[in-house]
Amino acid sequence: MNYVTVHDKTFQPFLSEAEIQQAVSRLGKAISKDYKGKNPLFIGVLNGAFMFCSDLLKTLEIPCEVTFVRLSSYSGMESTGEVRSVVNLHEDIEGRDIILVEDIVDTGLTMQKALANFGTLKPNSIEIASLLVKPDCLQCELDIKYKGFEIPEKFVVGYGLDYDGLGRNFKDIYQLKQD
Ligand code: 5GP
Repeated sequence: MNYVTVHDKTFQPFLSEAEIQQAVSRLGKAISKDYKGKNPLFIGVLNGAFMFCSDLLKTLEIPCEVTFVRLSSYSGMESTGEVRSVVNLHEDIEGRDIILVEDIVDTGLTMQKALANFGTLKPNSIEIASLLVKPDCLQCELDIKYKGFEIPEKFVVGYGLDYDGLGRNFKDIYQLKQD
């Protein structure tokens, strides 16, 4: 893996495709075991989670359904703190087992808002699967049952994660290089 430039910033290699896929398989196995005999509905949070959600579902050994919502709290490299829901859910989730699929949990406000919103729709259960978690940035109590990696408080791109629109298509994950 080499350094990459996205817009005006340089990023250094952080997690390789192989490391990511290994973590995704581990999470898929755990979910397949926990939801054996069930038909969970995965709700992928766009745009960032599209790649993780796709790979995660390919590793599952159980029947499942998938849909997507868009909840956004980021502008550039900063969390704005205010979560805007852009695309709403059309499925009836009452009585369903829901797994929210997120690329990265930073302040946790996006997932907290999603849990609160979807909780009012009376699902049977809701859990969170996040590929990345920045524990030092969390601003609320959040139970993240399926976690790929805990990472430090540095901005990352790749594997679905962007820097102002670019970088989502990288197979690996890169971390902002310190000047
Ligand atoms: P939270 O509400 O937990 O602060 O933010 C979650 C969202 O912020 C993620 O879905 C993601 O879009 C964005 N985000 C948080 N940290 C990063 C990061 O290091 N890189 C990128 N590209 N997006 C991030």
